[in-house]
Amino acid sequence: MGSCVSTEPGEESLKTQKSAGMLKKGKSGKNDVVGNIGNIGGLSAVGGDDGDFEGGSTNANDFVKKASIKMDEKNANKMKKPAPNLCPTCEKDITHAESVKRALGSTWHPECFVCPKCKKDMRREDPVEKDGYPFHEKCFIEEFGTKCGICNEVVVGEQMEALGKTYHPKCFVCDVCTQPLKGQIHHENGKLYCNADYVETFKPRCGGCEKALAGFFIVALDQKFHKDCFTCAKCKTVLQEYEEHEGKPYCEMCDPNRKAFVCSICEIDLTGKSYLENLWKEPYCQEHDGLYPLCTVCNTMVCQLPRKGEPPRCKHCTENTNVDSDKTKEILEKVLNDLKQCGLTIPKTFPVRLVDQAKINTYASKVHKGMPSCTRFDGPDPMEILVRKGMVVEEVESAIAHEVGHIYLNLNGYPKLKPIVEEGVSEMFRVKYLEQQVDPEPGFGFGPQIRPDALERIKRVAENQSMIFGGGYRGLLEGMKSARMSLPQALEHIYKHTWFPS
Ligand SMILES: [Zn+2]
Ligand SMILES: [Zn+2]
Ligand SMILES: [Zn+2]
Ligand SMILES: [Zn+2]
Ligand SMILES: [Zn+2]
Ligand SMILES: [Zn+2]
Ligand SMILES: [Zn+2]
Ligand SMILES: [Zn+2]
Repeated sequence: MGSCVSTEPGEESLKTQKSAGMLKKGKSGKNDVVGNIGNIGGLSAVGGDDGDFEGGSTNANDFVKKASIKMDEKNANKMKKPAPNLCPTCEKDITHAESVKRALGSTWHPECFVCPKCKKDMRREDPVEKDGYPFHEKCFIEEFGTKCGICNEVVVGEQMEALGKTYHPKCFVCDVCTQPLKGQIHHENGKLYCNADYVETFKPRCGGCEKALAGFFIVALDQKFHKDCFTCAKCKTVLQEYEEHEGKPYCEMCDPNRKAFVCSICEIDLTGKSYLENLWKEPYCQEHDGLYPLCTVCNTMVCQLPRKGEPPRCKHCTENTNVDSDKTKEILEKVLNDLKQCGLTIPKTFPVRLVDQAKINTYASKVHKGMPSCTRFDGPDPMEILVRKGMVVEEVESAIAHEVGHIYLNLNGYPKLKPIVEEGVSEMFRVKYLEQQVDPEPGFGFGPQIRPDALERIKRVAENQSMIFGGGYRGLLEGMKSARMSLPQALEHIYKHTWFPS
């Protein structure tokens, strides 16, 4: 493991950005309109003919002309019934009055026989009676007459009735075309409409061309659009999916929030240009290739110069060294679980401790000194795995996978093995683990692909110049191939013969 295999600069595959579709971008901000297509169908009038001011529609058959004074029903019992011994107007006792007027079924002080609305003397008038009170006709109409559903003035003489309301004929016209209403009429927001103008006024409109919608439309940004009217606010391309910025839709390329696709080193725009990527998919211009050092952890080209006095580390490996004891627990679980998928089960639990290299060297076997990990045993049982602190997450995973190989052999009572066999098996555990690390963003090709950094680590194991580690791994791999054995079968062979199959 001590030796480092360097990548030939030419080994990176040259990639050309084919289209905007290759841009790597989080999906979170994406607004997909494809699923939002709706259909208006036939437009129908809103509301029923209940005639309230919420809006309604009715047919010409429902309204008729009338020519009499009409009283609103709600005014029917408005007047208080006069008490027998009291003057209905002043409500004082009338039984001892000197002179009285008898009229409309009551006895009045003569000067109290007045119109309840205007308080004027009614003794010489021809009153309209309402609940035993004398009204001027004009006052009666003002007080109790039906109000027009449009102008709210009392309706006298000719009147129209529709949707449970009464209207002046002059008010019974379409608000848009001002023509007298006939046929289907609609009441909306306190206004009347003929059917044609109602449909034109209230049917949904396209947020783009503002014309009425029909058939299929797109719903986006709280508006509706004709399919072809939903376009990028900048380049006017018809949009299938969009990015929203300040309430306007943009295509991916025009999105003002778009993170520029730039070279990680010189930051020039790489859109439409050829570029290379390092292991962690950081893009950079071709001309930088080979001019920057390789990351000492993952062996990819670093896209930023190392800080003074520190070994070169790529951005990923700089940002992922904060492994703590909670994280190691998580990593151990993941490694054990992934190896279980290959039929390599460890039925015991044990801790992983982050320590410095000196501590590891104290407990490590002779061949393991200088390695970033070792395992302490208590008889067949693992006490703990020691892992060098300050390593990147992927290094910790890889080291633990190797140690699990040692634990497997010890727990299962394997006979004493030569270091080359023991380390060969442990390196095979490491590789089996790495082979299961799938690329979440695979390139072109079929099926799941191994994550590039894991592939790089596998390559390092296979090409390791150490006779014990690299040699052991290659010996086991070749033996498995020629004997056509799976790893569990090869392990059984090693248990019996203490040597690789052949
Ligand atoms: Zn009056
Ligand atoms: Zn009116
Ligand atoms: Zn009209
Ligand atoms: Zn439109
Ligand atoms: Zn655009
Ligand atoms: Zn560049
Ligand atoms: Zn790195
Ligand atoms: Zn080992």
